[in-house]
Amino acid sequence: MRAAARLLAVLILAAAFSAIAQEKHMIDPTPPGSLNPEPLPPLQNPDAPSTPAKELFARKRTPFPGPPRSIGGYSDGCLAGATQLPHNGSSWQVMRPSRNRNWGNPHLVHFIERFAKNAKKVGWRGLLVGDMSQPRGELSGHTSHQVGLDVDIWFAPMPDHVQSREEREFSSATDVVAPNLLDVDPEVWTHTHTELIRTAAQDPAVTRIFVNAAIKKALCREAGADRDWLSKVRPWYGHAEHFHVRIACPADSAECKPQPPPDPGDGCGHELDFWFEESTLHPPPPLIPPKPKPALTLAGLPPACKQIVKAP
Ligand SMILES: [Zn+2]
Repeated sequence: MRAAARLLAVLILAAAFSAIAQEKHMIDPTPPGSLNPEPLPPLQNPDAPSTPAKELFARKRTPFPGPPRSIGGYSDGCLAGATQLPHNGSSWQVMRPSRNRNWGNPHLVHFIERFAKNAKKVGWRGLLVGDMSQPRGELSGHTSHQVGLDVDIWFAPMPDHVQSREEREFSSATDVVAPNLLDVDPEVWTHTHTELIRTAAQDPAVTRIFVNAAIKKALCREAGADRDWLSKVRPWYGHAEHFHVRIACPADSAECKPQPPPDPGDGCGHELDFWFEESTLHPPPPLIPPKPKPALTLAGLPPACKQIVKAP
């Protein structure tokens, strides 16, 4: 009897983990913002070595002064001398302004301005800009976006009016992947989406773009003869409501840790198979729940980041 109860408990747990895994695979939904964001409560013990770095960086509302510097790696770094992307531009609008994540290295801001203009030329009315970085970098809810060189762009086209604060905080993003995860949703996806991503990838500053594997599959099909840009577009989990654009370490950020260039080739062959295997789309529940990864602390970041986050 006890064994049966234990088995039942294991099965329930397994089902719960399976549901989480599937959800994570499908989309990484954009959480709603807020009209009156509450300031974070002060940390009890900010100097403890175990304090997660993200807790310290999330409490900095202003950039570190001085020249712009992206310091460290995309997933273990920080940012000094950040600039803020204005909430409205000639052809972009910042979404979820309450998150205060429209900060970046000035090279990223210039890229977004340039990309918005070029996107217009291929028929995209304007960009809805999601998360960039916080004023000093590091970002909870993302493993990268830490050095001010990453930006999420929504797949939904910009409305034909300047959006109200309510629209920016609460309107939901558009999932362009079909419910079976095997391809894009033909009801939502258009060829202009392909041209939009091609335009971003062809910008010389861009080093990688992350999209859901179903989107990569559609791009491979629609790219035509000109395919060099496809090597920068990498399949990844989630990224069904937005695509993630990463620019290379700027020459004037000597402390920035570059990534090796993506593999050459269009990435449209057998490299894609893994993403559409049953075990990837619907992973079996783990027998033992995975241990959560310990949070990154200041010890895991370049020493300059400590100075940057501790400065007033
Ligand atoms: Zn991102």
